[in-house]
Order: sequence, then structure tokens, then C-alpha cells
Amino acid sequence: MEIVRIPALSDNYIWLVHEPVSGETMVVDPAESAPVLAEAERRGWRIAQIWNTHWHPDHTGGNAAIKAATGARVTGPAAEAARIPTLDRTVGEGDTVRLGAIAATILEVPAHTAGHIAYHFASEHALFIGDTLFAMGCGRLFEGTAAQMHANMNRLSTLPPDTRVYCAHEYTLANGRFAVTAEPDNAAIADRLAAVAAARAAGEATVPTTIALERDTNPFMRAPSAEALAALRLAKDNFRG
Ligand code: ZN
Ligand code: FE
Repeated sequence: MEIVRIPALSDNYIWLVHEPVSGETMVVDPAESAPVLAEAERRGWRIAQIWNTHWHPDHTGGNAAIKAATGARVTGPAAEAARIPTLDRTVGEGDTVRLGAIAATILEVPAHTAGHIAYHFASEHALFIGDTLFAMGCGRLFEGTAAQMHANMNRLSTLPPDTRVYCAHEYTLANGRFAVTAEPDNAAIADRLAAVAAARAAGEATVPTTIALERDTNPFMRAPSAEALAALRLAKDNFRG
């Protein structure tokens, strides 16, 4: 499986995914259409599918134009179908979706939005997580609770440690600046923040991350309770680093 990171809008990442055996190509959460169509064209890939993690416009804004240009079939969360009018197929917990010869399983991870889903390619150790888990952070609780997000974090922490986590935003530096205040004695967080600051200064991306890295350096994944996660989330929402 080939995975290409396409920066979009101010801080979004769109993931273009190609399965070389079948030649099938899919795009996760197209914030916009133009850079996706250009990248696929450049590589000679025809986009057959669009997979959405949640309804927010910075994840679905390119659906209609990509669909019009390529005939791609759009898959997204059943619980948000009314808010994603371009959907052709709805999915929920435990469903299987295919990209050519490779299968992904749907995980329901509500909290950022009520119907947020993730796409887990277990055989590839790859997870497309949208706005639920970020490098050293988690999504804001717009439509769900800290208890739901805590359950999501616990569940994701049990995936194989080498699972690569494809988040939808470059938020790592801001998250790291908060994380060192949340866990001032955690040397792994301090080390990671320094590395991330250097990478960003050099114009490099810091995503994907891995489950192992998040288990060591993500205060939200490390939160011992829903109450602790709620307090962290509130502090981060008000943090001006
Ligand atoms: Zn979002
Ligand atoms: Fe987003």
C-alpha cells in the first residue's frame, strides 16, 4: 500500500492511498479537490473511492468535485449520513471496506463528532483516524463526552504499537507545547517536543505518528480516567502556549 500525504487548507492532511496489486486508489478526508486531483494525475492514479471519517467541511469539502471528476464512490459514517450528502455507502462499527485486495475495519470513535469513524488496515498496521487522535493530542469534544474520548484512547492504545496513525491535521507542535505542561516530568515528551520543533522549523511534517509514540508521549492517551481526560481537554482548550 502506498500512502501519499497531501497538505491542504491551513493545517489539514489529505491521505491518498494506492493499492498496487489491483491499482485501486482511494482518498481519505479530502478537504479540497484540486491538490488531490493534481497529485493523482501526476502519479497516473485514478481515484475510485473517497472515505470520510466525519462530516466536518475540512474533511468532506472535496467530495463533490472529486466525485464529479472521477466517478469515485464515497463511503462515510452511517450516523452522519444526513450531514454528508455526497455519500454513496454508509458504514459502522465492525464493517469491512476494501481497497483492492486489502481490507480495512471500521472503528466507531465518537466524541469529536457524534458519528466519527476510523479506518483500520490491520494487515498493514495503518490507521486513518481523522480528528480523534493527533500526535500528542486528541480532537476537541464538539459532539461527545470526555468519557467517550477516554474509551477511544484506551481502545486505540491496544492496537499493535507499530501501527502508523494517519491524523488529519498538523497540530503536533502546539500539542507538544501543551503536553510538556501536562506532564513536566515526562522526558519522552520533552525529547519529542524538541524533535518536533526542529522538524517544523525545517518545514517537515510530523505525521503519521505511531501508537507506541502516543502511548509514551500523548497525555490524552495516558489519562488515567475520563475525569482526568476532561480536565486535560479543558486546559488545552484554554491553553495559549
Ligand atoms: Zn473535525
Ligand atoms: Fe478537521
